[in-house]
Amino acid sequence: MAKSCPISTFFIVISVLSHFTSRIGLRPWADALPLERQSLDNASRLRVDPDAIRMASRDFGKLVHLPNPAAVLYPCSIEDIASLVKFSYNLSSPFSIAARGRGHCHSGQAMAPHGVVVEMRSLNDCSRGSGIRVTKNSILGSYADVGGEQLWVDVLKATVKHGLAPVSWTDYLYLTVGGVLSNGGISGQTFRRGPPISNVYEMDVLTGKGELVTCSEDTNSELFFAVLGGLGQFGIITRARIVLEPAPKRVKWIHMLYHDFSAFSRDQEHLISINGLDYLEGSLFMENSPPNNWRSSFSPSDYPRISSLISKKGIIYCLEVVKYYDDLTSHTVDEELKELLKGLNFLPRFVFRKDVSFVGFLNRLQNAEQDLGAKGLWDVPHPWLDIFVPRSRISDFNKGVFRDILPKINQTTGPIHVYPMIRNKWDDRMSAVTPDEDIFYVIGLLHSSGADDWKPLENQNKEILQFCDKAGIKIKLYLSRYTTKEDWMKHFGPKWKTFEDRKAQFDPKMILSPGQRIFNSI
Ligand code: FAD
Repeated sequence: MAKSCPISTFFIVISVLSHFTSRIGLRPWADALPLERQSLDNASRLRVDPDAIRMASRDFGKLVHLPNPAAVLYPCSIEDIASLVKFSYNLSSPFSIAARGRGHCHSGQAMAPHGVVVEMRSLNDCSRGSGIRVTKNSILGSYADVGGEQLWVDVLKATVKHGLAPVSWTDYLYLTVGGVLSNGGISGQTFRRGPPISNVYEMDVLTGKGELVTCSEDTNSELFFAVLGGLGQFGIITRARIVLEPAPKRVKWIHMLYHDFSAFSRDQEHLISINGLDYLEGSLFMENSPPNNWRSSFSPSDYPRISSLISKKGIIYCLEVVKYYDDLTSHTVDEELKELLKGLNFLPRFVFRKDVSFVGFLNRLQNAEQDLGAKGLWDVPHPWLDIFVPRSRISDFNKGVFRDILPKINQTTGPIHVYPMIRNKWDDRMSAVTPDEDIFYVIGLLHSSGADDWKPLENQNKEILQFCDKAGIKIKLYLSRYTTKEDWMKHFGPKWKTFEDRKAQFDPKMILSPGQRIFNSI
């Protein structure tokens, strides 16, 4: 198993540096360079300075402080990463390696205590990664070949230039392709198109043995399915071939408010069961929510009456739907929407309509970092809880958690998401885990807290999990952060054996993504 004891730190740095500065580690692409120059380039890509170590020891969550990595690799090519992984694999005591996208995970999942963190975004700076290449093919299907280090927002910008776009997204697009595909990816398109992991044709994956393998549903399929939702355990995604379809031009975007949870969830489930909408999410506004949580979705003239509704009712549920359209459908889209929303039970005066560009809609959170940063809510701890709740128990969850547990804390501190998904849009051969019911709900409690007051929110998260356990609600964590093998075994349930076998096959020395704490105890 990859080592993570302090004594190895010095050894790792010296070994990796000397490896890179020796002729043994030369990569074919650089053979043309003078040897001295090549050695220098390689060595300078491995950094051990405090700035690099500090960056690689942090993540968005700011909750977990694991021991520092020994070094950080800023790769300039996929061969740089392959060379590092092979080097570790060939040692009798290998060191651990974690690919880091943007470090937007929340519990140390992209960290590598005493090992080496690979800053994937550095591939983009050198332009020697896979980049973004769009292939238009109306007969066989269009796709984009995208480096694992690329941001989804850049995939959007590059593909719409060709009149195309991926079909499934995350809400926030400043995440890497590799980081999201390692988790699954969820957003309002998932009910209809499946998560981003269900929309990949092929990948290049660098396994824990340092082998670069092309895999798809038909070729090296075991690796393909392992890696999708595989929490970085089986290989580093260096390229993904992502499904594209013609991009619409604009969207009709509607928010509807409810105070009755059963009407809200009934309408959500009805809407995902019929064909017609392209996106559906839902959220919760509470009396103790800061207004920032909901204001961005409405115009200032509506704030007073929404605010007074929330104060009157305590909890309000917001159903959010989108229908795409383009020049051909612009004359019929309003009528179609009217038909789709007929018979819903939202509060009659509380329906809000917007008409925005497709790109503007997908990239609606483009200013999140600046906006939250300005309010002091970005560079702070984020005790997030993302769970999947089986449909059959969602009303118990509403009562036990939304009505009883959440109001106990004076102020909720971030958006709360509640919306359903359809299980058959997730491929069970993949590593990602969902509840064992046809429909399940995503619950996202996206808290920000002050530097020193995240504990009450963490305790509340624990209370929610304990409540579910006691009530027999068989939830699954998304962006899981278990720390013991026993908890992980329970999480994967019947999939555990396959997960473990795949680890033995593709990363037998347990080198990759140790911060997930599945096979590496830290
Ligand atoms: P990192 O956090 O850097 O890495 C996450 C894990 O993936 C680590 O274990 C890492 O080792 C591994 N990894 C990274 N790159 C690769 C690679 N190329 N190959 C193999 N393994 C790799 N998630 C959603 O599903 N939907 C959302 O709407 C959504 N919104 C978010 C909004 C914000 C503001 C934030 C902070 C997160 C959000 N997330 C969302 C969570 C996000 O999907 C995860 O944080 C995910 O890990 C992507 O972040 P990243 O690219 O920074 O990856």
